[in-house]
Amino acid sequence: MGLLSLGTPLPWKEVEKYADHVREHGIKQLINIWKNEKDSRGNKLLWGDEVEYMVVSYDDENKRALLSLRQAEILLALEENEKEVRIEENALNLGPGQRIPTFHPEYGRYMLEATPGFPYTSSLDDLLNVETNMTRRREIAKAHMMPHEFPVTIASYPRLGAPGQFTDPYYPPTGPASRSLFLPDELINPHARFPTLTANIRERRGSKVAINVPIFKDTNTPSPFIDPTIPFDRDIFPEDANARDGAAKPDHIYMDSMGFGMGCCCLQITFQATDINEARRLYDQLTPLTPIFLALTAASPAWRGYLSDQDCRWNVIAGSVDDRTEEERGLKPLKNQRFVIPKSRYDSVSYYISQSPDFRPEYNDIELVKDENIKKTLMDAGLDEQFANHYAHLFIRDPIVVFSELVDQDDAVSSDHFENIQSTNWQTMRFKPPPPGTDIGWRVEFRSMEIQITDFENAAFAIFIVLVTRAILSFKLNFYIPISKVDANMKAAHSRDAVLNEKFYFRKDIFAPNLHSHTEPVTGSETESEDASGSVYSSDCNSICDPVARPARLPVEEEYGMFTINEIINSRQSTSSSDGGDDDEFDQFPGLVQLVQSYLDTMAVDVQTRCTLNAYMDLISKRASGELQTAASFIREYVRGHPKYEFDSAVSEEVNYDLVKVVEQLTLGQEWDGVGIKLLGGMNERR
Ligand code: GLU
Ligand code: MG
Repeated sequence: MGLLSLGTPLPWKEVEKYADHVREHGIKQLINIWKNEKDSRGNKLLWGDEVEYMVVSYDDENKRALLSLRQAEILLALEENEKEVRIEENALNLGPGQRIPTFHPEYGRYMLEATPGFPYTSSLDDLLNVETNMTRRREIAKAHMMPHEFPVTIASYPRLGAPGQFTDPYYPPTGPASRSLFLPDELINPHARFPTLTANIRERRGSKVAINVPIFKDTNTPSPFIDPTIPFDRDIFPEDANARDGAAKPDHIYMDSMGFGMGCCCLQITFQATDINEARRLYDQLTPLTPIFLALTAASPAWRGYLSDQDCRWNVIAGSVDDRTEEERGLKPLKNQRFVIPKSRYDSVSYYISQSPDFRPEYNDIELVKDENIKKTLMDAGLDEQFANHYAHLFIRDPIVVFSELVDQDDAVSSDHFENIQSTNWQTMRFKPPPPGTDIGWRVEFRSMEIQITDFENAAFAIFIVLVTRAILSFKLNFYIPISKVDANMKAAHSRDAVLNEKFYFRKDIFAPNLHSHTEPVTGSETESEDASGSVYSSDCNSICDPVARPARLPVEEEYGMFTINEIINSRQSTSSSDGGDDDEFDQFPGLVQLVQSYLDTMAVDVQTRCTLNAYMDLISKRASGELQTAASFIREYVRGHPKYEFDSAVSEEVNYDLVKVVEQLTLGQEWDGVGIKLLGGMNERR
């Protein structure tokens, strides 16, 4: 979840003094990177995924599934193993998917993260290795654990912070970093960065974070629901009064610590683009897809021992690292702070950055809070206004962790101060400039997806997003809608069974009309290039972005309609005019699956490969249509169907234990007495 610098972390009061210094040098470092790399072209289309795990520790005797806090030992063993295998591997000519994966620490001391050892290339063959590689990661991880431990991919742990024991070993829920009523500090990764992040966020904010997720009201849930498990009378830290003073809301599950959010697991995909313009375009085109894939991968229906009336983790993490002061949250007039900031550092993208011809300034329709001085510095250095705005916005934030040894840096070679601010802006997409001194190009990261229970599902979503990016580049697809509508979609994506019940704003004509239809073609240079594997893609050029040369277009409000996820993924026929509009021309929508299929039609794909890819697409398609369940729906239904569940919203230790066991079985490719059939539709049995 970010840069792991070593050194002595400063307390918040000290960090505050260095905030301008970090911003100033961070921007200098960015300018240096931009000057060095802005013209670099022809980078390979590479990509990689990140899978986050929770290590469970079974206490079979007492029917409890606990979170194992042995991250450090497990990672050390994995690192040793990787070193040994790499030496052997170097002698062999292996593809990226066949090389040993790499493991990384994460926020929770019960978490692991794993990536393929080397980036995947744009070749379709690499796609066929993704699932095997993910399965291998889990097997290797498991091989370095105790017999009673297992790496599960559950997005939010149902009993994290619930009364009783939920970690192995047990620690009482208190600690100076988080001052939580529910979580011990010992579940935070002990690397100095993580407890310091936790404490400094709390101190900067001026109170503990406060997250309230609506409770799922079951037949026996009291109404109003006032959580009996909140120790309202606890008084160890001054912050303990927060819950009494209104931070805990009735009818909600209240959480008060960073661990509730950053202790969740997700599936992230990073792409390297051929150049900066293509990266900017991909960033924009993927942004409207982030809420859609959040809803499709929804896997977080239980929090702190209760079923919730929402299915996704995103707003919990947003709340868990929300370091804005009362002034910044608009609760008090601005006095000591510079800005009122509408969103947390962990939130949705607020601004499009591409200058491709299909971009319209009207799409950036929410007021962007930005540091005008930083904007000016960047523009004086030669960055265009849109790009300068992007960073002037990210850099309204303070650094949260500063290591005393790293305050002074050589801006010509380091990007540490830049990364400090950049990597603590956790948005649905991240635009990543090349790290200095490497041959890495401009990259974008797709960050909204929740981790899925099986490797099959995680591979399916990773591969699908990769293929969508290929379709975007090959067919010059245009998914732009106003950014305020993407925000509205983020909100909708959280609701229970959003996949089935919600409608989302989506663009009606995605074939970049201003480039290909309606009007005469726009002139300018479009570069086509071919990479090593033969896949063709095009990149934009700033010279075709002259707004004066742009043809007349539809009013922005007519460009989008309301779609179900089924329509977005599986197509919409002209009969279903679900936006109530009368514009027949746009009532047919091909669906993302069809677009990917059309893209594959343009490639020489052998039958075997096509069949495998179709199996992954089938999963996405059936999730969208409701034929298969999301993990969130599966978990909620499993809990409600458990003989020990009392229909009072509570996920007891025993129900949680049985659930985690089922999850393990599904992960291992067994459909526990048919239990997973609605989740996977038998697909898990094909291996
Ligand atoms: N675990 C976080 C999530 O679920 C992401 C942390 C990271 O950026 O790696 O979104
Ligand atoms: Mg991570």
